[in-house]
Formats: sequence, structure tokens, C-alpha cells
Amino acid sequence: MIAVLKHTATKEQIGNLVSWFEGQGIKVHESEGDYCTVLGLIGDTTKIDIDMLQSLDIVEQVTRVSEPFKKANRKFHPEDTVVDCGGVLIGGGNFAVMAGPCSVESREQIIETAKRVKDAGATLLRGGAFKPRTSPYDFQGLKEKGIELLLEAKAATGLPIVTEIMDAEHLPLFKDVDVIQVGARNMQNFELLKALGKCDKPILLKRGLSATMKELLMSAEYIMSEGNEKVMLCERGIRTYETYTRNTFDVSAIPMLHELTHLPVVGDPSHATGRRSLIEPVAMAAVAAGADALEIEVHPNPSKALSDGAQSLTPDMFDGVMQKINKVRSIL
Ligand code: PEP
Ligand code: MN
Repeated sequence: MIAVLKHTATKEQIGNLVSWFEGQGIKVHESEGDYCTVLGLIGDTTKIDIDMLQSLDIVEQVTRVSEPFKKANRKFHPEDTVVDCGGVLIGGGNFAVMAGPCSVESREQIIETAKRVKDAGATLLRGGAFKPRTSPYDFQGLKEKGIELLLEAKAATGLPIVTEIMDAEHLPLFKDVDVIQVGARNMQNFELLKALGKCDKPILLKRGLSATMKELLMSAEYIMSEGNEKVMLCERGIRTYETYTRNTFDVSAIPMLHELTHLPVVGDPSHATGRRSLIEPVAMAAVAAGADALEIEVHPNPSKALSDGAQSLTPDMFDGVMQKINKVRSIL
């Protein structure tokens, strides 16, 4: 349920109302906008008399929220959420590009990539240290060493870093990481989501391979219900019957999610298509559809990459893609 309060409501009146709800066992999520305050009421609201609430002087309007996601719901929080990712803002009109290799492979590889993507205009460095691979015989990532190398690349370039977590037990290793990524395969690892909900870092939550938008939002809700509201959602393609592309990029998810939630929405054309030649057009489509950020794989020598070489851009190609993205943004 949400209660929109009149702009004339004083802090004291709002405080009294909030305490009254809490006394009824209802959690209150307060969102103060420029023109009004919105109280999101979470819990068993069936015993609340809507007519009584509506009749209060300070209440403008009361509505029941039928969606199962509450904290992520735009109705609870009408303004866009802006997430501070190590000093780089994402959401609410702030646009960012996260770029870098699928996997961190060596000091030279990650530092060279970091410098090149920064020169091209990327504002965050991505790189996998713990890799969720389909085959246990494939490269599994450099793990702790990979995070250390990302931190070296951050020190060399100033770019905040984004890297994937696969196990909550690894959280201490992520203490200096700026953005923790939850990969598509872990979108419904609820214990991991709950553990991330207790930490204070931005989370990049990728849509599962066959997840609906509602399931993605419910996974965000798992993180947010534990207290961490710095969540960004990532459309990275979903599995369909199509085989020319690795996945099918659901461009409509970007504006649909913007309608449903206040959380920033990121587009990943790399995993969505699996093909280097498609990164530029799909990145432009994501930006045109309103993505708040992009995540793009770049490798200094894609043919030698230990993972996802076929979808990785060379730094020169990435430079060209950034120019196209900036053109689209300037038209918008
Ligand atoms: C990745 O970002 O390298 C990755 C594994 O992505 P996804 O979880 O979307 O497949
Ligand atoms: Mn990858």
C-alpha cells in the first residue's frame, strides 16, 4: 500500500503517522520528493482502513500496490534512484559505460585494457575474477589474484571496478571492489542475494537466462529487503529459440523496467548477442531505449581471450562504438 502525503504535512505529523504504522507491525519506506512525501507500507496492510487513512488531513491519496515487489517499485519511490559507483553516478540522467575483458587474465592484459577503455570514454572497468563457466574444464578465473589485478588497474587509471561474485563466503575479498556483479546464473541464488543485501556496495544484478522481468525485480527485492537499496538491473539477453545470436536482447525490457522500477537499468550487448559485429548496433539500441549504462566486453587480443573472445571488441573497435553511443546520446 502507498500513502501519498500532502506537501503541507509537517515532519512531526509524518513522524506520528509512521510510528502509528510501525505500531501495527508495518514497515514504512519513506521517499521524500520535491512536491510530496510517499510512504510505502510493507507487511500485512489488510487490517488498515483505507477510508480512515484517506480522511486524515495530511493524506493526499492511498492506493493498494498489487505488485509483489515493493521497495523496487516506482510507485513507492517515484524518482529515479541514482547509484554512486565509486564516484561515478548511474541513473536519473547520469550515464556510464563499464568496459573491460570478460576475464582478468594477467597484469598486462587488464592494465592495458583499462587504459584503452578509459581513453575511449569508459567510466568503469569491468573484469571477471570468479567466472561462472558452463564447463568445469574451462578457465575459472584468477579469483583473488584477479581482484588484486583489478585493484592495480584501478590505481593506474582511477576507474572504479565491477566484478562478479559467485559465493557469499568470498565477500571479504570484495571489500575494495566498487560494484559487485551478480551474474545471470546466480540471479536466483537467494542466499547470495540476502548476503549482498546486508552489505553497503552497489550491486549490478543481471537478468537470468530465462527470467521474467518480474523475477528480476523480485531478486532485486531480496537485496533491497535486507537494507541495500543500491541495486542496478542489467538486461543481458534472454534465451529464445534463436541460434544465430547467443541470446535475444530484450530491448523492450529497458523502458518496461523504467516504468516498473526506480532502479537504474543497464544494457549488456556483449552477452546478449555473443557476436562482435552486433555490439555497436545493439549498444545504440539500448541507449536509444533509455539505458542508464552499458556493460561491454573489450580485450586487447580477442582471438586469444580465455573467455568470450567472439563477443569481445578490440580497444579500437570499442573506441568507434563509444563515438556512436555519444552520437545517439547527443540526439536524445
Ligand atoms: C559476464 O559478465 O562475464 C557474465 C558471465 O555475464 P552473464 O552473467 O550475463 O552471463
Ligand atoms: Mn563474459
